[in-house]
Amino acid sequence: MNVIHTIDALRRIIFENKQKGKRIGLVPTMGFLHEGHLTLATQARAENDVVIMSIFVNPTQFGPNEDFESYPRNLERDTMLAASVGVDFIFAPTVEEMYPHDGGIFIRAGHQATLLCGASRPGHFDGVLQVVAKLFNLIQPNYAYFGQKDAQQVAIIQTMVRDYNIPVELRIVPVVRENDGLAKSSRNVYLTATERSQAPAIQQALQLAKREFIESGNVDKSIQLAVKIIEANMDGSIDYLTILSYPDLTEVTSETEQVLLAVAVYIGKTRLIDNLIFSLKGEPAHV
Ligand code: AMP
Repeated sequence: MNVIHTIDALRRIIFENKQKGKRIGLVPTMGFLHEGHLTLATQARAENDVVIMSIFVNPTQFGPNEDFESYPRNLERDTMLAASVGVDFIFAPTVEEMYPHDGGIFIRAGHQATLLCGASRPGHFDGVLQVVAKLFNLIQPNYAYFGQKDAQQVAIIQTMVRDYNIPVELRIVPVVRENDGLAKSSRNVYLTATERSQAPAIQQALQLAKREFIESGNVDKSIQLAVKIIEANMDGSIDYLTILSYPDLTEVTSETEQVLLAVAVYIGKTRLIDNLIFSLKGEPAHV
């Protein structure tokens, strides 16, 4: 497996493989890999001739008081893990390589970025779209792999692909969890032992709220139930706990096909997110 740091080297690899008619799969990440990322890469391996994983902690998607500087990084370990699941190339550019010019064109996400994580992280999804659009243009993947863990991100990237006619097919992978239900995340390393022991309450709360919502169809009652469970079991504060139609992120109506039940919780210095996507009858997601 090769680690590439420059756009020139990346372009040469893409050119050669496109000429040979190879199918290219892209797995965009910020590194500090865990089983969630590796599940995306494993699926990419099964469906493509060439698998490229990008590892780039993208500064434009972090707010001024967020954890860009302290975000965990370990390229050596990531390289070993990526190789173990058959990734062919890691693209790990520097910030200067990705953003050599100031004050250029910026993509702005629409309505879908005004709520959930977008409300507490203004500009976050614009930064995500900026880096993802660049990666799509550089790598021209046939398939790009994203996790349902970041359901709002998936919905917004789907909109960009649709609205800008980007020739890529998005492949969405279900949330990979620890045995106790906590969604795997690079940020879980920030949790203290106590916080870690409390964190599975997030998933338990979502499961109970889902059951309540399927039975009663009552958004407020379902949300209150989940809030109660989180407040009783965690020393955290809830940023949002919301039920919306997915992927449009509007109010649930009788026309809604898929429901997103999403939560973000601040616990200590960590912000954890999780979600469930299901039909009004409780059938699993088909995102
Ligand atoms: P990140 O490095 O956190 O930006 O994540 C890179 C990709 O991996 C994104 O598409 C995430 O949604 C996905 N991902 C992160 N954690 C998980 C998880 N626990 N299960 C599935 N996908 C995940």
